[in-house]
Amino acid sequence: MIVLVTGGAGFLGSHLCDRLIEQGADVLCVDNYYTGSRRNVQHLLSHPRFEMLRHDVTFPLYVEVQQIYNLACPASPIHYQRDPVQTTKTSVHGAINMLGLAKRTRARILQASTSEVYGDPAVHPQPETYWGHVNPVGPRSCYDEGKRCAETLFFDYYRQHRLEIKVARIFNTYGPRMRLDDGRVVSNFIVQALRGQDLTIYGDGSQTRSFCYVDDLIGALAALMQTAPEITGPINLGNPGEFSMLELAELVLELTGSKSKLVFHPLPADDPVQRCPDITLAREVLGWAPKVDLADGLRETIRYFREVLAA
Ligand code: NAD
Ligand code: UDP
Ligand code: UDP
Repeated sequence: MIVLVTGGAGFLGSHLCDRLIEQGADVLCVDNYYTGSRRNVQHLLSHPRFEMLRHDVTFPLYVEVQQIYNLACPASPIHYQRDPVQTTKTSVHGAINMLGLAKRTRARILQASTSEVYGDPAVHPQPETYWGHVNPVGPRSCYDEGKRCAETLFFDYYRQHRLEIKVARIFNTYGPRMRLDDGRVVSNFIVQALRGQDLTIYGDGSQTRSFCYVDDLIGALAALMQTAPEITGPINLGNPGEFSMLELAELVLELTGSKSKLVFHPLPADDPVQRCPDITLAREVLGWAPKVDLADGLRETIRYFREVLAA
């Protein structure tokens, strides 16, 4: 079984490659290193069942594989907004190329979609049946609408070409191998706390998110790929525990023992007020629920960032 992982040198992708190698698969990892890094897969490079290819998914790719996990796309707002046109191209052209590849090879294909398809949600928590509340012309739109269009393409290839598709809507996930400068809230707070810098709260910190530890998420992605062909998703994957950014900041300060202060910055445009997955479907279809609570996951992540900062 040869499994293609696009975005495999990124945060989630590298953990997925680890899991697939453990499970005995041959893994072809494709990445253009836009936000990913060779360091994330360094330990796999000498493995006989692992192969790394530098390639941009907006260009066609002709390889022979049996399964495809399509994760290529920058995920952090500061990185996906740096080159918004490229972000949309990666989601849309990338999906077309990987779906074309799946069509030719008859490979099963999984899309890493996102809770951002719900935008700033008017329904809470968000079930898969909710169509979302997305600004089509704002600074987050390159990512949100790119991912929405990718979902459309997946379902049209499914209906038109009978592909075996799996669409996962991933909610905020964190853990080791996030970049120091990733820009997302968990890595920002931890790195700031460990450096003794002020923790940057955007807005008043009352906005909420639900944070899933990476190991839990990877288990769900692998389980979804193994489901029967009629299971297509979209399916929410995340941890339904909901925390305000102030609560997260306090927890990070407690777990790091840092004396850092909180500092308040303006809320970025279109920043969702609340977000929490309804994971009823994942529980039923995958028999899955996250196991790692926020404090335990943060401890592992803090341990990782301590090592990186000490190196
Ligand atoms: P990441 O930025 O660490 O990983 C993305 C990877 O894709 C990087 O290695 C990057 O170099 C690569 N990439 C970007 N554009 C590419 C291109 N054109 N061609 C080839 N490779 C390209 O982010 P992540 O958190 O690991 O996210 C992985 C996937 O999961 C993304 O599709 C993201 O949208 C999705 N997702 C992540 C989260 C989360 O909380 N981590 C939440 C929802 C969805
Ligand atoms: N494609 C690819 N690898 C393949 C097969 C197709 O990258 O193994 C790309 C190809 O460049 C094409 C896209 O996927 O533009 C969509 O393929 P599809 O067969 O659906 O469309 P068509 O080739 O008919 O435009
Ligand atoms: N955020 C924050 N401080 C930071 C980084 C982010 O308060 O240093 C806030 C951000 O405004 C958002 C939440 O934390 O409300 C989650 O942001 P992130 O970029 O991690 O993910 P997303 O907004 O895509 O869910």
